[in-house]
Amino acid sequence: EQRQRAYNFNAGPAALPLEVLERAQSEFVEFAGTGMSIMEMSHRGGVYEGVHNEAKSLMKELLNIPAGYDVLFMQGGASTQFAMIPLNLLAPGKVGAYVNTGSWATKAIQEAQLVGEIQVVASSEADKFMSIPSLSDLQLPEQAAYLHLTSNETIEGTQFHAYPDTGNVPLIVDMSSDILCRPIDVSQFGMIYAGAQKNLGPSGVTVVIAKEELIATSPKTIPTMMRYSTAYKNNSLYNTPPSFSIYMVKLVLEWIKEQGGLSALQVANEYKAQLLYNAIDNSDGFYRGCAEQNSRSIMNVTFRLATEELEKAFAAQAEQAGFIGLKGHRSVGGLRASIYNAVPRSSCEALVQFMEDFRLKNG
Ligand code: PLP
Repeated sequence: EQRQRAYNFNAGPAALPLEVLERAQSEFVEFAGTGMSIMEMSHRGGVYEGVHNEAKSLMKELLNIPAGYDVLFMQGGASTQFAMIPLNLLAPGKVGAYVNTGSWATKAIQEAQLVGEIQVVASSEADKFMSIPSLSDLQLPEQAAYLHLTSNETIEGTQFHAYPDTGNVPLIVDMSSDILCRPIDVSQFGMIYAGAQKNLGPSGVTVVIAKEELIATSPKTIPTMMRYSTAYKNNSLYNTPPSFSIYMVKLVLEWIKEQGGLSALQVANEYKAQLLYNAIDNSDGFYRGCAEQNSRSIMNVTFRLATEELEKAFAAQAEQAGFIGLKGHRSVGGLRASIYNAVPRSSCEALVQFMEDFRLKNG
């Protein structure tokens, strides 16, 4: 008999679809009649390459990626992209423009500062990062090489719901915590990147979707593995790729397709988020949402209780009841429910019920 799965609200690594885990389990020891696990195979062989290329083409299909873009599988997490972007794209005399929306945007900024000249062109720091700054009259520096922003602040629980038009300046977006949560128009972006461990699969692979003109040539002055051109020219097979992680991404992408693609996921995700935000907003102030209404994330729902004591009790009792990962990030405290694509609606319904019970007992 199967053990009850946890109500997994982890921020990352995060829940994976049960169907994906079961499929991986069924193929774990022997992949497609080869007598080997996929992770035991040469990455130069046709079987692995089939998986690799299928993951890539599913990504293109689901996101409707136009011609002139490529998909790369990298390592080092999204954190390595923070450095690779300026190393590759910030030529001397150029400026990297950044929007500071919170913890992850700040990390991207700090890393880029080690490499070249950057300018913060908008920030919600004065608002303690509880909102997404308006970019309607955004001024980019004349020498801007790109504009970087973080589509979803995993820790604060804020999310962009529209992206600025940056004209000829490439828009580069860290979508680590909301990629594939809804349809997007890829042609708006110069580059999108995401660590896999929220909506894409297990950790170990980082997906980069970029206009070919940005990645086809890289400075020869930076190490080989730090050049986008190395991955681009070698179909992300210059060195040994994180093959098992990429295989898992392929299974997740197949699962998304079975769910009806990104439009269907958007409907499901908005429904789940609304369940939780309603529970917060209809609690007579017992629960307080952290993010400003219009900036609320549909992936990470952050909220607080009147005291830290009560928050501790909430987290502890929730864990007892089988709800995992509800403690807010250590840097901001409070509570957070991460409700990525793979978190089923039933988990959110169960959490709402728990929240109501907890309020009745402690309100
Ligand atoms: N950017 C965002 C928005 C994140 O949520 C994370 C979380 O892990 C990162 C970047 C860092 O990613 P990684 O751990 O893959 O380096």
